[in-house]
Amino acid sequence: MERMSPLKKPEHYTATVTRIRKGRELQILNFECDRPVSFVAGQFLMLELPTGGQRGYSIASKPVADSSLELIVGNVVVGKGTQYLCSLKTGDQVNFLAPLGMFGFLDAGQDETFFIATGAGIASLRSIYTDRLSKGFEGRMRVVYGSRFEENMLYKNEMEALAAAHPNFTFENVLSRPSEEWTGKKGYVTDVLKTTNLNDGKKRLFFLCGRQEMIKDVREYLKSQGIPNEQIRFESYG
Ligand SMILES: Cc1cc2nc3c(=O)[nH]c(=O)nc-3n(C[C@H](O)[C@H](O)[C@H](O)COP(=O)(O)OP(=O)(O)OC[C@H]3O[C@@H](n4cnc5c(N)ncnc54)[C@H](O)[C@@H]3O)c2cc1C
Repeated sequence: MERMSPLKKPEHYTATVTRIRKGRELQILNFECDRPVSFVAGQFLMLELPTGGQRGYSIASKPVADSSLELIVGNVVVGKGTQYLCSLKTGDQVNFLAPLGMFGFLDAGQDETFFIATGAGIASLRSIYTDRLSKGFEGRMRVVYGSRFEENMLYKNEMEALAAAHPNFTFENVLSRPSEEWTGKKGYVTDVLKTTNLNDGKKRLFFLCGRQEMIKDVREYLKSQGIPNEQIRFESYG
């Protein structure tokens, strides 16, 4: 399997907003950058705020040859970064530094890779699993995506299409505050994990991304199941 080496030196980019999809608590933003951004799936960029300061945002799209880029921003925390990203309109320009981070660095030898996200945390994981699938990676991959409401469940159609096209890819959406119409899984990502036998002798690699409370809960559960730290990678959004 691929290793993330050598690491690229971060560079400054300017990008123009090309599309905005506004959801209930999350927005997807598409950008056209001034040149293709060289990064490894799972890395993030550092957005420069016009009022001063910077905020990190995972790149939600896989590395491509063109200059397009996708980000997800949650709008529940309302600080300077959220306000800035949520105020952008099509045609606006942003500046950022990229690539940063080592989250996508993969070990060799796992039988199964779990991608566990809540909210905007699906961003870095989507970059990794779409990249792997597009390169013909044949190892088993499972996405467990936790959201509060149906309207926050990003990329559902895309996940369905990926699962239909790739027998090694499956996904489960779990909602903590679903409507009465919801017939899928209810609760938290840990509830889904608890229905999986993690002591069957298979080697698993876990990627966790999202809020620190989720990451803490999942790490504790995995630890209780005897999963060693080196098989758990996480990116915390705060
Ligand atoms: C590597 C990395 C990648 C990230 N990728 C993304 C991404 O793809 N999408 C995204 O939406 N965010 C992402 N974040 C979080 C992002 O950088 C900002 O922290 C977030 O947008 C809030 O910034 P803010 O300026 O609006 O709020 P701030 O002014 O930074 O924070 C306001 C208050 O909310 C608290 N807070 C900050 N973040 C959270 C949180 N997630 N949950 C609860 N409380 C919080 C702070 O402690 C502070 O008290 C990432 C963070 C890191 C470190």
